Amino acid sequence: MDPLDDNELVDYEETEELVVNGTEDKVAADDESKESEGGVKGKGGHVGIATTGFRDFLLKPELLRSTLDAGFEAPSGVQHECIPQAILGTDILCQAKAGMGKTAVFVLSTLQIIEPVDKEVSVLVMCHTRDLAYQIKHEYERFSKYMEGLRTAVFFGGIPRNVDEKLLKSEDCPHVVVGTPGRVLDLINIKALDVSKLKAFVIDECDKVLGDDSLRMRRDIQSIFRLAPRSKQVLMFSATLNKDVREVCKKFMHDPVEIYVDDEKKLTLEGLLQHYVKLEENAKIGKLVDLLDTLEFNQVMIFLRSTERARALNKYLINANFPSMCIYGGMPQLERIEKLKLFKNFEKRILVSTDLMGRGIDIERVNIAINYDMPKDTDTYQHRIARAGRFGTKGLAISFVASEKDTELLTETQKRFEVEITELPEKLEVRDYMPE
Ligand code: ADP
Repeated sequence: MDPLDDNELVDYEETEELVVNGTEDKVAADDESKESEGGVKGKGGHVGIATTGFRDFLLKPELLRSTLDAGFEAPSGVQHECIPQAILGTDILCQAKAGMGKTAVFVLSTLQIIEPVDKEVSVLVMCHTRDLAYQIKHEYERFSKYMEGLRTAVFFGGIPRNVDEKLLKSEDCPHVVVGTPGRVLDLINIKALDVSKLKAFVIDECDKVLGDDSLRMRRDIQSIFRLAPRSKQVLMFSATLNKDVREVCKKFMHDPVEIYVDDEKKLTLEGLLQHYVKLEENAKIGKLVDLLDTLEFNQVMIFLRSTERARALNKYLINANFPSMCIYGGMPQLERIEKLKLFKNFEKRILVSTDLMGRGIDIERVNIAINYDMPKDTDTYQHRIARAGRFGTKGLAISFVASEKDTELLTETQKRFEVEITELPEKLEVRDYMPE
């Protein structure tokens, strides 16, 4: 038997109904989400903003202050839907457009609820990459900066475990832990991390963490869940959440409020122009250089299908004097984090990577995403291009189409999201893709 068979998943109330039906609370995001409200714009882009302010969530003053510092004037649609439910302790399974502020939903909600106790971990946030974990930890720091004594830590593989162990066993034991499943389970197994007092368990990019192509991560999460109290609140988020993975997610939850964008055309990012270029494989480099020379951009992310290809392209760009850098899976962990910091700090303008950077990573100044190699599926396409055009800002996505398969994926994407991806015109108006 496959040890990761669905039957192995945790079912909380085995004697009761197996999967709780949250339909009563289910919000059809396509009907009700404020994201489809026209008229109001955020950060100069196309984002539906709820008419309420953060003040209406009755957040702790320390949190309200940090949202103001962050420049958050009004909650986005997903924040408006989820935060009031989440701060009441309800489980939430949420799908919402990429770049619309899902991170702030769980960061603010869990910080609102938390009552820090020394030497107790109250909130555990899991995600699929180390880089995203690092970014989420920063978001916790940003929003908890006025919450005196509140400690957050991030744990992931690739750096010595004993540092994490020491911290967990010290007086500075964090109240919020963000991490990747492997390292977190490892720390539990060596009795450094105690999850028996958890109040909230969050999974970001939950389809990636619990989906069929990450059985190992799913198994690790199951093990961690079994050790955490049944009463904990569970919050899960992704921009893509197909019906099968929703069922898997719900097995970890109690009567969740479910917020889905069932109408996939609502996942389209209105501020983002999407084009393709048809070319032969060997014409890609020339075309890329041409684009980088002619387009205006703040920062650009270029996606390739393998680490080897990404490294080779980066080398080429550096030799050609482009301010390029590369982040890839096999890179030593600390270097990876340093590189990401460098890019976020605008020290380089071009980031060449693989799908490692395709999800969750939020870099405000990226306004162009280039699929040098087409992704393997439409979900991945949607996540990658959303790196340009965060929080409804304008952006541009260009895909190189070099094979029959690439063309098929492009057609499939257009059909699924009801979006028009047209051939890249000779000339683009800068104002159409550069944020003001
Ligand atoms: P998602 O997780 O939905 O892909 P993020 O949480 O990464 O999106 O948010 C995208 C960007 O929008 C981030 O830079 C974040 O700081 C910003 N943001 C989130 N909520 C708001 C808000 N209410 N007002 C302004 N900016 C926001």
